[in-house]
Amino acid sequence: MIKEKRKQFILIFLLLILIVEVIFLVRRMTLDKKASQTLRSVTSEKKVIDQSIQELSQQNLENFVINQDLLKTANQTKDSVHQSIKTVDDISNISGKVKNQKKQLMLGLNKDAEAIDAIQKRIKASQQMSTIFGTKPFNKNSLVKDLAISQSITQSMKDELDSNVTSLPKDEQKASLEAGLKQITEQNNALVSLDKEMKTYIQDKKIKTVPTSDQYKKLNKEVSSLKNDKLRQVYASQLSVLQKEVVKNDPTILNDDKKVALTFDDGPNNTSSLQILNTLKKYNIKATFFMLGTMVDNYPDVVKKIHEAGHDIGNHTYDHKDLTKLDEASIKQEIDSTNQKIEKLTGEKPTLLRPPYGAYNDRVTKVEPNMTIALWNIDTLDWKTHNPTAILGEVKKELQPHSIVLMHDIHQDSADSLENVIKFLKSQDYTFVLAKDLIN
Ligand SMILES: [Zn+2]
Repeated sequence: MIKEKRKQFILIFLLLILIVEVIFLVRRMTLDKKASQTLRSVTSEKKVIDQSIQELSQQNLENFVINQDLLKTANQTKDSVHQSIKTVDDISNISGKVKNQKKQLMLGLNKDAEAIDAIQKRIKASQQMSTIFGTKPFNKNSLVKDLAISQSITQSMKDELDSNVTSLPKDEQKASLEAGLKQITEQNNALVSLDKEMKTYIQDKKIKTVPTSDQYKKLNKEVSSLKNDKLRQVYASQLSVLQKEVVKNDPTILNDDKKVALTFDDGPNNTSSLQILNTLKKYNIKATFFMLGTMVDNYPDVVKKIHEAGHDIGNHTYDHKDLTKLDEASIKQEIDSTNQKIEKLTGEKPTLLRPPYGAYNDRVTKVEPNMTIALWNIDTLDWKTHNPTAILGEVKKELQPHSIVLMHDIHQDSADSLENVIKFLKSQDYTFVLAKDLIN
């Protein structure tokens, strides 16, 4: 009897162990199943990540054109990689096979993390370059031309340049960056002399000597040509203190300061260009139109109209080629043919040349010594945003004395934005001049 009971007890005990074992097994299977699901979903996320990395690494960053979208995509991809790594890392209590899958996926994700770090570094280097060299496409000879920076900023830029040089592949770019360094140094010297000059008039916000009108104008020109925003603001605030004193003797300096030139590229056409003409007429403003030879061919009557309304006409090449990529004969052809077409219609030969993309080099200036290169300092980005509010926003953001505003008369949105741009500039007491008045 007792033996029977003991047998029963052992059986029940074994059964209990079995039940517990089964529960453990089921639990393990459930966990494995859940882990597998997570791994599968991360694997499909990884496909998206890999594609994004693939696309980013194929981007051509050699032109150093600012591209916020690229950086944004890179940041988002990096976030996804890190999120995925965390998700996979959190998986625990799994058995052999799933463990192996986890390990493989983790290895792949770590590689992605390295790749996206390298891409981010490249994009940032490219962006840094674009702030140093302006938004124009990379061009060795126009490099750092209108750039000025303080000594401390120069040093940090030098460091930045050095590190960027190492992350850039091409020998030609290395050489160009070295040339950039040299120019940064030259610009810096010019800035040091401006600083010294400024200190003879004003120090610690106290005026030492009041400059004459001419001295003030000279300072003003130097300050407004500073490309570095921070520095320009620092010196502009000192200038405004001086201005209050100078204006007492010479009220006309106020007019001299606030000059702006409106310029319109890539036209004309017989729709938006005409609307722009009407708006300019309404406010009695003269502007500069940089025309393409092809458009002059298509709309000779509009060319005449623009000329008869008293606007200045400049040359924007025949068909918008990057002049730095052409040989001398082709450069000459692009510019001369357009000049001839315009002269034939208006009787006047253009004197200003606005090279497409702002890109020019020694070859261009050598082939056309009589043309003055006319760039801009406010890019409204109208070609990119196609949005009147954004166009006005750029003007508000970038406005400074002696501004040359770049717009495109072939876009309807640009024509639509013009009236508000004019109203804003007027509200800031700016007077409208021709681009050549500011360049010469
Ligand atoms: Zn253009």
